[in-house]
Amino acid sequence: ESIISKIAAGQIAVSPSAVLKELIENSIDANASKIVVDIVSPFEFKVVDDGEGIPLEDLPLSVERFATSKIFSIDDFNRLKTYGFRGEALHAISLFSELRIKSRYFNEDIGGEIFVRGGEIVDYKPITFSGGTAVSVSNLYFNAPIRKREISKAEKTKMKAVIMDYALANESIFFKVGDRVFYPSSLVERVKMVGITNFKVAEGRFFIGFFKTSFEGKSGKVRKIFVNRRPVIVKEISELLKKLMIDEYVLFIDVPPSSVDVNLSPLKDRVILKNIRNILDEIEKKVDTSLYKFPS
Ligand code: ADP
Ligand code: MG
Repeated sequence: ESIISKIAAGQIAVSPSAVLKELIENSIDANASKIVVDIVSPFEFKVVDDGEGIPLEDLPLSVERFATSKIFSIDDFNRLKTYGFRGEALHAISLFSELRIKSRYFNEDIGGEIFVRGGEIVDYKPITFSGGTAVSVSNLYFNAPIRKREISKAEKTKMKAVIMDYALANESIFFKVGDRVFYPSSLVERVKMVGITNFKVAEGRFFIGFFKTSFEGKSGKVRKIFVNRRPVIVKEISELLKKLMIDEYVLFIDVPPSSVDVNLSPLKDRVILKNIRNILDEIEKKVDTSLYKFPS
């Protein structure tokens, strides 16, 4: 491993919640309609999906850095619709854990299993597998004791928050997390399902939910911005909403992939929006004219 790739990997696999986020994104990118998450501890968890699967011969590539990058030219950045695109997440996770992937590609008869420990492929073989993909992470940070010690008690809560974000933004996907189940629904219904109630909605080019009252079990303020269903930080928007005295919000902005650049940080949580001025104007207009209505 080069120093550069280790640093990049360290940033991707920075915490159990960051690792879980990558696995859930991969399931969604594989067009899963069903995602089941099982968390034993922050160092041992599993994501199972019914997505398209990974061809047996591609399994070793999936854990190799950049081997599966979906980007072939600069132009492709503009067409990106998937959460992942750099082909470095599974590799990064494999460097810090024992990673087991079982999968069967949708149009192949035989499935495959690969077991990688600290970046080394320990086992790789064909298996019979019903379909989709099961990714298990165990012994996370077994080889990074300092990092392991830094993972706090709050990490499990962060992991649940990650799942909530993706369940929220992907309302047509069935999610199961422990004994919580989210059935496919409308966006408004899904917002309610994750526990956000008492909100007003402005729909149009954007979907905006503003709310003032708190709901049971909520910890802290709910302030969420999704761009093309990706949970992100957009400083200009959060500052505007603060200025408008919108204390809590869930904001979905869907724009053409060509007008958003997500390649700013390894965590892909910061974006640049090309038409930010228009977007800010539109948000302000919606708030000002009280266009929002209560959801039915
Ligand atoms: P990226 O998502 O940036 O392409 P990853 O390292 O996250 O890179 O994943 C590498 C590749 O492994 C993906 O491009 C995809 O082809 C495959 N893959 C990973 N997880 C899954 C999954 N749950 N279902 C199907 N394919 C997957
Ligand atoms: Mg990915």
